[in-house]
Amino acid sequence: MPQPRTESHVHDAVIVGAGFGGMGAAIALRHRGRSDLVILEREDDLGGTWHVNRYPGIAVDIPSSTYSYSFEPNPYWSRLYAPGAELKAYADHVAEKYRLRPLMRFGVTVERAEWDDASAVWTVTQSDGTTVRARLLLTATGFLSQPRLPDIEGVESFGGTVIHTAKWNADHDLTGEDIAVIGTGATAVQLVPEVARLAGSLTVYQRTPIWVTPKLDGPVPRAAQRMFARLPFTQRIARHIGSAILEAIMVTGVLEYARLSVFNRLAEAAAKLHLRAQVKDPDLRRQLTPDYSFGCKRPTFSNTYFRTFNAAHVDLETTSIARIDERGIVTADGRRRDIDTLILATGFDLWDANFPAFEVVGVGGRELGAFWRSERFQAYEGISVPGFPNFFSLNSPWSYSGLSYFTTIESQMKHIDRLLAEVDRRGARRFEVTEEANARFLAQVRRRIESSVFALGDCATSRSYYFNQHGEATLLRPTSTLNAFASAGRFPLDDYALSA
Ligand code: NAP
Repeated sequence: MPQPRTESHVHDAVIVGAGFGGMGAAIALRHRGRSDLVILEREDDLGGTWHVNRYPGIAVDIPSSTYSYSFEPNPYWSRLYAPGAELKAYADHVAEKYRLRPLMRFGVTVERAEWDDASAVWTVTQSDGTTVRARLLLTATGFLSQPRLPDIEGVESFGGTVIHTAKWNADHDLTGEDIAVIGTGATAVQLVPEVARLAGSLTVYQRTPIWVTPKLDGPVPRAAQRMFARLPFTQRIARHIGSAILEAIMVTGVLEYARLSVFNRLAEAAAKLHLRAQVKDPDLRRQLTPDYSFGCKRPTFSNTYFRTFNAAHVDLETTSIARIDERGIVTADGRRRDIDTLILATGFDLWDANFPAFEVVGVGGRELGAFWRSERFQAYEGISVPGFPNFFSLNSPWSYSGLSYFTTIESQMKHIDRLLAEVDRRGARRFEVTEEANARFLAQVRRRIESSVFALGDCATSRSYYFNQHGEATLLRPTSTLNAFASAGRFPLDDYALSA
């Protein structure tokens, strides 16, 4: 058996996660002369979400011209909202073009990272005991990366096939099967119409309905793709239009609820009209209509989800699940449904399993997960935490700044670039955000969240993962994406303490 290796070599940086966030960070670090990089990835290939999630119907639900790096446009998206496989191919292309693959080590689960103040070095320990050392640590482990299994009695006793959407089993043929899907989040909205096509019978177990608005989707004509390739500015215009629409949705629908809640009500009305157009049965419509404000939870878009429930072989089940046994699902009223396959569209554990995704120990033994839980979730500009020098936490509380994750990635790349330029200019070896700067940022975002839908909307019944276990909505950065990007270019450099 191979022995764990202890590397004495100190790399410029260790990045954990080979998704779009980790790859963006590597590109930013290289730009500042850090070329000795290691990217550790738990999965067997790169691409993060887009490598892991392969369920039928998966597609991006942000316009593809916007959901990509601005410096690496792809003129060849086949649809306005590209299918998941194209996102994975795009990730492969970026890794190839920017020579990132050679930096990556796959199948590596990081268990712990510890800072040593004397040497100013991070030691990262993998599950096999192997250690890697670096002057910088960056965690790009995603938010939606720890699949959640439902806490339903007997779930492990089911005798048929169980598939979580984030661990799709493409070899399993669903044709003609009796199938249950648990969950009605964004994943189920994409998956359910596809499963219904194959299933002999399909029952969708819904605990909380979701707002669904029409999806303005369609193929991108070849002529438009050629135009984007030949005249890149035309795609930049498409990107700006997409970004402006998303920005407007974010600002009006989420952040400025105190003044602009009329937009939330308009979105609710649009979703109800959409439902009415697709479902004639008023009882079914009532069951599919949420009772919480639009925006409390990630909204979804689909032209096929609602109408799937009209089919004779598809049922919506809203009675809560009492237990699962070897043959199927029993609801609280004692009814049972025997099934062949159980599909868990039950989402991800963010707040217990993913903040952070592994143990991170900073100055004086401060442990990041314990700090966040006891002192509340916080991170300066959604990227730095006091007590954790030479560390960028890319999936932090308050970091996700808008609907396209690439706006967050590129803001963070800019933040990293600006800080490291100063670190180099001053010949520093160590940087750490100050307690004062962190407290100021925290006060600012807490103030701003007060006028958002999360504070003023009717979110009590939404069961939204935007809220943490303390009931605070600390996932989204409550500023416009333009503000996030501008802040990355102008945060006071003395918000960080630099030393040799
Ligand atoms: P999710 O939004 O967290 O939804 C999980 C669903 O499972 C919810 O309906 C939840 O019900 C249900 N559930 C969980 N535990 C349950 C239990 N014990 N009993 C009954 N129901 C249970 O997860 P998701 O649908 O995978 O989506 C996660 C996020 O991924 C989305 O919000 C989106 O950001 C992203 N996503 C993006 C795309 C895209 O861009 N194309 C596609 C899919 C997903 P409750 O609501 O009652 O808890």
